[in-house]
Amino acid sequence: MPLDIRTIPCLSDNYAYLAHDAETGATALIDIPEAAPILAALAETGWTLSDILITHHHYDHVDGLADVLAAHPARVIGAAADSRRLPPLDVAVREGDSVTIGSQNGQVIDVSGHTIHHIAFHFPDARALFTADSLMALGCGRVFEGTKPQMHDSLQKMAVLPGDTWVYSGHEYTAGNAKFALTIDPDNPELISRVREVTEKRASGTPTVPSLLSQELATNPFLRANDPAIQAHLGMEGANAADVFSEIRTRKDNF
Ligand code: ZN
Ligand code: FE
Repeated sequence: MPLDIRTIPCLSDNYAYLAHDAETGATALIDIPEAAPILAALAETGWTLSDILITHHHYDHVDGLADVLAAHPARVIGAAADSRRLPPLDVAVREGDSVTIGSQNGQVIDVSGHTIHHIAFHFPDARALFTADSLMALGCGRVFEGTKPQMHDSLQKMAVLPGDTWVYSGHEYTAGNAKFALTIDPDNPELISRVREVTEKRASGTPTVPSLLSQELATNPFLRANDPAIQAHLGMEGANAADVFSEIRTRKDNF
């Protein structure tokens, strides 16, 4: 049985997620931007929190932790290598380590770039990938601490996962990402139709997450640095993918 996953809008544009394993009753929370909407979702579902998975140390991903823990004691899991900047961890994990939500097994992926030691969590049986500020719908996080080639490497680790994987990212940035994507890949019909879909969803206040990895591969310019049309559009035919990615990221920073 797959995980039952709830998307919880927090703050102005963040998402937290609750992932519930019906077989065992285990429930994980992925990131804690603020407590109130998460406490409300726990009350509404009646789920008992067992684990809290932290993707990275930024305040908009950890600030609600103390208040959630006060009401729902749970095991806190985060990157061992970043433990000095994270709240106290019960389980410190590294790339390749396993994380379980009840009967569901997941793996930790180091996706450094936005921050050093940002991690993602992949649950293959549930086809779920929690990416926070690494891979995002039609975009990727701003590179604050790492280098752009490092962010490119991190995204490539996720690009090779099965195309039917759902990408649960940390922010509702998709409409802005869509406008930018059209400046990089203007003739891509799949992008054009996805932008239409995103516009409709946002007009009705519907989250644009999760998105399918296959759809990201077809439309997200940050996963398409190898695409000949994009390279030609940027005047970078035959350049290596990390350089093309870096150019796209720089353009987005100045967009
Ligand atoms: Zn962040
Ligand atoms: Fe964030």
